[in-house]
Amino acid sequence: MTAHIAVTRERRADETRVAATPDTVKKLIGLGFAVTIEAGAGEAASYPDADYAAAGATIAPAAAQALANADVVLKVRAPSEPEIASLKSGAIVVALLNPHVDKTALDALAGKGATCFAMEFVPRITRAQVMDALSSQANLAGYRSVIEAAEVYGRALPMMMTAAGTVAPAKVFVMGAGVAGLQAIATARRLGAVVTATDVRPAAKEQVESLGAKFVAVEDEEFKQAETAAGYAKPMSEEYQAKQAALVSEHIRKQDIVITTALIPGRAAPRLVSAEQVASMKPGSVIVDIAVEQGGNVAGSKLGEVAEVGGVKIVGYPNLAGRIAADASNLYARNLLAFAGLLMNKEGALAPDYEDEILKAALVAKDGAVVHPALKA
Ligand code: NAD
Repeated sequence: MTAHIAVTRERRADETRVAATPDTVKKLIGLGFAVTIEAGAGEAASYPDADYAAAGATIAPAAAQALANADVVLKVRAPSEPEIASLKSGAIVVALLNPHVDKTALDALAGKGATCFAMEFVPRITRAQVMDALSSQANLAGYRSVIEAAEVYGRALPMMMTAAGTVAPAKVFVMGAGVAGLQAIATARRLGAVVTATDVRPAAKEQVESLGAKFVAVEDEEFKQAETAAGYAKPMSEEYQAKQAALVSEHIRKQDIVITTALIPGRAAPRLVSAEQVASMKPGSVIVDIAVEQGGNVAGSKLGEVAEVGGVKIVGYPNLAGRIAADASNLYARNLLAFAGLLMNKEGALAPDYEDEILKAALVAKDGAVVHPALKA
């Protein structure tokens, strides 16, 4: 029996991405799936219905029709309440479910009997790199953060020597040098800025330097131990944070643009820039807080706004990847395509192997209950 995939339009107001592209539809059909796309699902990401139809998808007029027959639902975000109500019992849902935070949606999905996989929980092992949606989206968010900064900054980023005088290059400081931060560094360098960066993980130092930026951090014993086995940052002690803050304070007041990207999985984002540090910056300086949706790295950043504090602009746009929707959808859809491949057996029938280490790590709800150990109360 052919397994049916549904892709619906995203319901969240600022969500412009879509979970499949005409290209991935073709490949999903190649894997043995039948694919239904809700009309208009790809519109905000510049993928028209006609291209999905040409790739072999059925276009459904509304989400309920697309979902009624779906064995697998691919989404960017968690399905909305009406979408959950329309799910077939036992349907598989794969999305960026934000499971540490969006417990309401997860409970509703579990209550409906859906089998749910959170793309955030795909392990960072070599075999799963092609499914690493956190990386594919963070990379684009890092790029976009610099474009947003350049847009509100009233000066140029590169040095320019003109007959009328010299334009100085912008000084850009990137705080948090993970996937997003490294791409922000590379982008700011390409635009000609003088770039420095910091992180609490010692492994970041070499990566920052290999991109031609200078590394700025307190490199004590705690710093040398600050990386978990999974490659993520640990929460730092108050003592370390105080030392680092003193070093950063001295540095930040000389910067034109600060981009903050620091996250700790499953926790609120660490506060990296205080109100005093914001006040120390020159009028016209710009801060972009990529972590604004996780509580923010910067004092005074406001979700969805460009806040102005003493002449300093703090950009708090959510979903930066969604502001580059066509590429973000393209890469995310490819992450999902690779993941969907794990749900099929060799004969092209829907038969997820729940012992597979990727599926096991990403599984968050099954048989009416939330099952992931990190999410159980
Ligand atoms: P993330 O999004 O969880 O956090 C962003 C960055 O913020 C990290 O570099 C983190 O160290 C940093 N940070 C946290 N607290 C901080 C603080 N107080 N001050 C300054 N910086 C702080 O991280 P990420 O982008 O997902 O990447 C984490 C690591 O995983 C990186 O080393 C990355 O290269 C690695 N990675 C590995 C794979 C893989 O092996 N498949 C894939 C992606 C990323």
